[in-house]
Formats: sequence, structure tokens, C-alpha cells
Amino acid sequence: MNYFSSDFKLGILGGGQLGKMLLQVTSRLSIKTNILDPSKDSPCKNLCNEFEIGNLMDFDSVYQFGKKCDLVTFEIEHVNTEALEKLESEGTKVYPSSKTLKIIQNKNLQKQFFIDNNIPTSDFWYFKSPKDFKNSFHKNQISFPCVWKKTKFGYDGYGVEIIKSIKQIDNLPNEEFIIEEFIPFEKELATTIVRNNSGDIQIFPLVQMDFNKESNQVEYVVCPAQVNREIKDLANALAMKVSKSFKHVGLLAIEMFLTKDNKILINEVAPRPHNSAHYSIEACENSQFQQHINSILDLKLGSCKSNNNAIMVNLVGEKGYSGPVFYQGIEKAMEQSNVSVHIYGKSNTKPNRKMGHVTVTDENLKNGLKKAKSVKNLIKVKTK
Ligand code: ADP
Repeated sequence: MNYFSSDFKLGILGGGQLGKMLLQVTSRLSIKTNILDPSKDSPCKNLCNEFEIGNLMDFDSVYQFGKKCDLVTFEIEHVNTEALEKLESEGTKVYPSSKTLKIIQNKNLQKQFFIDNNIPTSDFWYFKSPKDFKNSFHKNQISFPCVWKKTKFGYDGYGVEIIKSIKQIDNLPNEEFIIEEFIPFEKELATTIVRNNSGDIQIFPLVQMDFNKESNQVEYVVCPAQVNREIKDLANALAMKVSKSFKHVGLLAIEMFLTKDNKILINEVAPRPHNSAHYSIEACENSQFQQHINSILDLKLGSCKSNNNAIMVNLVGEKGYSGPVFYQGIEKAMEQSNVSVHIYGKSNTKPNRKMGHVTVTDENLKNGLKKAKSVKNLIKVKTK
């Protein structure tokens, strides 16, 4: 099939920043793209060939959109999987598949998948409601603190809460959830694996994610992770096992906990481009976005090797500011060498909304970290 400068249409469900960075690759290769997103202000609106407004969870919107495309992918997990299944059954290619997405969309199914495939993960329990939890609590070995997670539609830490006592259960929404054993981890690590339909696999370097304690969002991603060779090998082998169990086509981002006794537990996975691999645009031989396109088109995968140390800094909306966005200090950051600024193109900011990111590369990791911290302090995402 000829994808380049042809009538081939790649459909992308979701038009946020991940879609925008995918479009930088498709634009370079002259691959035609259609995008479906619920917002008329989507960052992708003016960058794709055709843009449609529609609800990604609505069967008809997704199905009708997919019928106009030769291949469908997604940049967000919250999409209607029944529509994807129907498209697949009628011959439209969907990568990653509806089967992979269905498991990952639901934290209960995802955790059960890890258990069924012998993948180390924290203990967990499923509950239909807070009442169900209270009724059966004594039968389980749950102790506090533990971690409450919505089974569906959580993102960026929304839908995750540390539960310190049974009293907190009364404040939870009346819907199904899982409780996880609390892991007092040493570090949070991540890697991304890319796999094409022919079974070619490549793995990105292991990175470390440093979180903001208050918002529970990733603040810095550091490549390579500051862990010894043994831990790297253990994490990579486990990530490969996860990838092989899913037999996914496309990217699979894998988040892990390194425990205090040097064990690796899989926290969760995402079958799409991921914040933890944005650094790959500047630091790797092929970016995660390039690899996603290569894999879903079943092209030969390039190398994921990094050529430099990299630190990615998320730019999120400052507390107390909601409205038309203003990036204070951005020009000063752009003046510096080896500092790449990415602005997502969302017209309005709100507290903790992801509005952009910056990648700092440096042959000396210590200097790079210092620069990343100063860039973080320099740029403030506020309103005009
Ligand atoms: P999301 O899907 O919103 O990213 P995660 O499952 O990754 O949710 O959880 C968000 C963060 O909460 C994690 O990055 C980690 O810092 C913390 N967390 C999640 N699960 C646990 C756990 N079992 N023990 C300790 N901390 C956890």
C-alpha cells in the first residue's frame, strides 16, 4: 500500500497534544489525516486534512468517522470500543486493536490481565460501590493506607486517591472501583515498547518519572533512569513480557514501581503515545510518534536508542489562573541552548492542565537537571 502523497487516509481519534505531535510526523511524510475530537478548539483542528467534531464515546460518531478512513488509531483511551470492534469486523484496520484497548480502558480488567499473565503488580480488590467495600471489608486483607482507583475514565491522577481510613470511603463516588495495596516505592520508572503487525519489537530507554507531591502529576521525566544495570535489565525484561502478553500493535507505555527491596511492579500501561516518552523527539534516533506511525503502518521499526541525556519538564496551568493562556518567561527559556519548547495550542489554561512541555538535553546529566529546574521556575502558565 502506498501511504505517502496518496489517497490513503489515517483516522486519529482524539485531537489533543498527542495527536498534534503525531501530525508533525504525518505532515513530514505527507500522509493524509482525519481527526475526530469533541472540541472545536482542538490543538489539531487546523493541522490535519479533515477535522470533525464528535463525541469519542458515542458509537455512531466513532463508527461513521472510521468508515471514511483506511486505518484508525487513537491518541486517547476514552473511545467507544464497540464501534472499533464493528469497524474491525468490516475490514477497517484499527491499531492498537479494540481487544487491547478494552482491557486497558478498565483498571480492574487491566490488573486481572497482569495477574493472569504472571506479571508482578500490587495486590488489588474490586468493589461494585463504597457500600460493597464496607460490607466485605473485613473479609479482605486490606490495610490502610491503600489506594482507591476508579475503574474507568481516570487520567493524570484524577480518579486515584490514597485512602488513610475507612471514614474516607463515604466521600467516594457511588460507582465501581478497585483498591490497591499501597506501595511505598523508591522510584517510578517507565519505558515504551513499540511493536508492528509483523512482530518487530523495539524498546525505548528506561526513564524515571518525578511527581509533584501536591498534584500527583509528573513534573520531570529523566532519561536515562538513575538506576543500576541490574534494575534496568529487570525492568526491560518485564516490559518485554508485558508487551508480548498483549501482542499489541503500536506503542505501549509501561509505568512501573521500583520497590525499596529492588523489585519491579507494573503499575499500569497505555497503548498510545505517552508523556513519559516525549523526550524521545529530541533525544532518540526515532521519536515515539515516528515509531507509532511506523508500527501501525507495518513499516520496519527504526531504533529507539537515545543519543543524549534528556529531561522533560511538563508545563501545567498555575493554581489560581483559569482563562486565555499566557506563557510567562517562555522567550527567556527559548533563548537557551539545548532547550526545546513545545506549546500545545490550547487557548485556555486551568490549574494543572497540561499546556506544553520543555525538553532539555545535555551530555552532562547533572547540568541538564539544573537547567531543567531553572526552566521550570522561569516559565509560568498564567492568564493574559
Ligand atoms: P493515572 O491512570 O491517573 O495515571 P495511576 O494508576 O498511574 O493513575 O496512579 C497515579 C499515581 O498515583 C502514580 O503515578 C503513583 O504516584 C500513585 N500510585 C498509584 N498506585 C499506587 C500504589 N498502589 N501505591 C502507591 N502509589 C500509587
